[in-house]
This record gives sequence, structure tokens and C-alpha cells, in this order.
Amino acid sequence: MGAGERLKKRLRDGRNVWINGERVRDLVSHPAFSGTIESIASLLDLQDHPDVRDELTFEISNGNRANMAFLIPETKEDIFRRSRAFRLWSGATFGVMSRVAGYYRSQLVGWYVHRNIFENEAPKFSDKMKRYFEWVRENDLLLTAAGHDPQIDRSKTADELGDLYTAARIVKETEDGIIVRGAKMIATGAPYMDEIMISSHKKREKKEKGFGSMFAINVNTPNVHLICRESFSSDNKEDHPLSSRFDEMDAVIVFDDALIPWERVFIKDDIEAMWKIRNDPFVTAISIHETIVRLVSKLEFVAAIGNDLAESIGITKYQHVQAKLAELFMQVETINALLLSAEHHSNKYDDVWAPSIDPMVTAKNLGMHYYPRAIEILQQLSAAGMLQTPSSTAEFHSEIGEFVNKYYRGADRNAEERVKLLKLAWDLVGSPLGSRHELYERFYAGDSVRAFASQYLEYDKSNLIKRVQDRIKSKISSELSFQ
Ligand SMILES: Cc1cc2nc3c(=O)[nH]c(=O)nc-3n(C[C@H](O)[C@H](O)[C@H](O)COP(=O)(O)OP(=O)(O)OC[C@H]3O[C@@H](n4cnc5c(N)ncnc54)[C@H](O)[C@@H]3O)c2cc1C
Repeated sequence: MGAGERLKKRLRDGRNVWINGERVRDLVSHPAFSGTIESIASLLDLQDHPDVRDELTFEISNGNRANMAFLIPETKEDIFRRSRAFRLWSGATFGVMSRVAGYYRSQLVGWYVHRNIFENEAPKFSDKMKRYFEWVRENDLLLTAAGHDPQIDRSKTADELGDLYTAARIVKETEDGIIVRGAKMIATGAPYMDEIMISSHKKREKKEKGFGSMFAINVNTPNVHLICRESFSSDNKEDHPLSSRFDEMDAVIVFDDALIPWERVFIKDDIEAMWKIRNDPFVTAISIHETIVRLVSKLEFVAAIGNDLAESIGITKYQHVQAKLAELFMQVETINALLLSAEHHSNKYDDVWAPSIDPMVTAKNLGMHYYPRAIEILQQLSAAGMLQTPSSTAEFHSEIGEFVNKYYRGADRNAEERVKLLKLAWDLVGSPLGSRHELYERFYAGDSVRAFASQYLEYDKSNLIKRVQDRIKSKISSELSFQ
């Protein structure tokens, strides 16, 4: 059985996935999920394809092979090996799938590598994380994470919301583990994943007792429910080439007094430990890496579509069009340059390597502004073009096919080719899936205001400041000596 089939088997495990008022009986054949599951299964199967097997996987000590996202970078070359693997999967999905290639798998690598450091903060973290990491790696499991409280009242801390059934928290401890009640939002890809890591993505206040835990759940944990947003999927691959294949789905995770076994509780209600582990520089660096590789693939895709849209209606000779297309290319080049800089200036943390963090944080934060701007450029270039399409490509074969062939053609291509391009562009720009992607790039790593502020706070400014201070001092002293 191939890796894709193994995933499908795992997805039939009785998990509580809810959509349109119903519990999904069979995720694999459900129209809201089946197209995306096929895409993920095909990506997993690539791991056994002789042409790319060595790029996507590596041999582990028991002789089996594991996905490259689990590779511990013991040399600088390992950073490039990881990057090439991320690139293969993100390239195959045009950067629109964010949870398969290795974002959270990489985060797990970080925690595993630094497990002994965290042992001081969280007793037994080291042994539990070792077992968990090895189990996830050996079984090729897919992971996502949820770290935010439900958006009920952001002016209040979790404890101030009182007895309301809100943020996930410990309500009881038993011999077997903790009992968790409440919700976490939102976990991208959750219905398709094997595991979800639950933690707190913001620094909590000391008084928020019960809310500072980090634990992993199997998606089929009893009393855990995944409430999905509306599906953006489609069964029409011709008219909705992206929505039909790549709707990653987002879900709110509800814990209805779910038992989390001690073995999976990495931090039990310790806000300081939670925050230290969350902000470990090595863990951050190793996990962001994949997201930047994916961003390059996505921006390349948008730039290619922008270029093709412009050529298809003969507008590339206008200077403002050239400037807009150049802006798309500049985005690609900038993020790629930051990625290369991060990889080439990789740092050694004791015995392991991670890409340099500053260029990657810069790329991540720029991406929050770049992507919405790139989408705006596609709108400006196409104007009403993306809506000037027949409702379906089936129209070409209808009684009015003659009109469609005549009136929808482009400057350099026939009507069928142009309509296919416009359908693809609309799926990226104007469809529910497209809007979701714009929101994703703006917010997936926190909101940009706080992300930019945090870059300011964490940036090592000492060298910059010293240079100015030295300059001021030397100017004064040279003026003095001149006098
Ligand atoms: C498509 C998508 C997929 C996502 N996938 C995941 C995932 O897989 N896992 C995961 O954990 N998260 C995920 N996220 C969640 C994401 O990390 C959060 O959306 C993000 O951190 C912002 O939090 P929020 O949505 O709760 O907005 P809020 O924090 O509620 O912010 C709403 C608005 O209020 C302002 N605001 C609120 N509080 C403050 C404050 N204290 N100071 C200043 N301004 C404030 C914000 O600036 C913003 O304008 C995803 C988000 C999106 C859009």
C-alpha cells in the first residue's frame, strides 16, 4: 500500500469532523474533502517515485525512509536538502498548500533537537518529545497546530471570560491525563491531518490559570470535534482548477471534556515554559524555513499568471503594465534573495544548523503585504476580464459554441486557452478559495501589526546603534583634532 492509500486509511478512523450540520461519515469520499485528499495522497506517493525519492526522503537508523522535513540538519548542506524537498512539494501545489510540506513537522524537529534544554522548564519533556517525534517521523504523520483562543472578546484575558465555554483549558487532572474543555481556533488542514499540536501562540498573563498547556492530540481523540468552515471545494476541475484540488479547509477544534493522556502533555499549565519553548530561536528558524520556500512558489505562480494575463490581451507594451509586472517579479526576487541569504548564512546551534533568522522573519513579514498587493495587481491587469468568461467551459461545446469561440479569444491565443487562463486566475483572485488565501497570507503567522512590532523588538540593533554612536564620537573628536 502506497503512502497516499495509507493516509486515506488513517482518515477513516471515526474522527468527529462536522460540516453543513452533519458529522462526516467518510471524509475520503465526501465532496467537500475528496479532491484535496487526492492531492495530498499524490504528494505523499511522490516519496516513493524513483525520480524524486532521494530528494524527498532520507534513510533513518532502522533502514526505513522518512520525509525530508524530519531531517535534523547536522551540516549546512542538510539545510539545502531540506529546502529542495520543500520546493518540490510547494512547486507541485503552486504554494497554495501550507500544511503538507513541513511547517509543523519542522517545528517538531526543533523541539526534538532542543528537548534537553526544555527539560528544565517542563519535566519529562525530553523523553516524551523523543518518543513523540520518532513515532510521528516513522509513521509519516501529518501535523497541524492551533494556538489561538476563540475570538469572543479580545479586550479580556481568558480567565476574565469566566465560566463561558471558551479557550481550551484544563478542568481536571486524572491518573490518565488532563481533561480539557473549550476551543482553539483555527487549525488549517485539520480534517486531513493525523495530529494537532495545541498550545498558546500569545504570551499569557500569570493569572490565566489552566490555559498555558502544550499537548498533542490525535484527530480522532474522543470528545474532540472539528467544526469546519464552509467548503470552497468544487468537483469541476476545468472551471475551478485550484478549488477542486487544494481547499485545505480550516477548522475550530472543540474539546468537550477530552482526555489527553500524560504521554502527550508536554507542558502542563506553565505560562513561562510555554513562552520560552514557543520563542526558542532554533525552533523558530527551522520551522519558518518551509513557509518561505512555499511563499516563493506562490509568488512565482502569481507572477506567471499576471504575465500571461497581460500577454493574452496585448497590454504588455504599456509602461504602467510593465511596472506592475516588474513589481511581481521584484516580489519573487526579494523573497528568493532573503531565502538564499538565510540558507547561505545558516547558523550553527551547538551541533545542528538552522537558516539565519533575520532574513526569514523579514521575508515572512514582507509576505503579509506582498501577497495582497500581488492579488491587487492581477485585478488591475485583468480588469473585468476575469468576469468576462462563460459560466463553464462546457459552453464551448454548446449550441452557442461558435459565439464563445469568436468573442472570448485573446490577442495571442484562441478562446478556449484564454478562458482556461481566466478561470485559473479567478480561482486564485476572486473565488472563495482565493479570498481565503489572501486572508491566510495576511494572518497565518499572526497579524502584521504585531508581527512587525515584534520584529522591531527582537531585532539586534546594537551594531547599528554602535556605528552611529561611534560616528558621532569620531566626528566630534576629528573636529576637535582639526581645531
Ligand atoms: C486562513 C487562516 C489560516 C490559519 N491557520 C492557522 C493554523 O493552522 N493554526 C493557528 O494556530 N492559527 C492559524 N491562523 C490564525 C492566525 O494565526 C490568527 O488569525 C492570527 O494570529 C490573528 O489572530 P485572530 O484571527 O484571532 O485575530 P485577533 O487577534 O482577534 O485580531 C483581530 C483584529 O484586532 C486587532 N487586535 C486584537 N487584539 C489586539 C491586541 N492585543 N493588540 C493590538 N491589536 C489587536 C488585530 O490587529 C486585528 O486587526 C490562521 C488564520 C487564517 C486567516
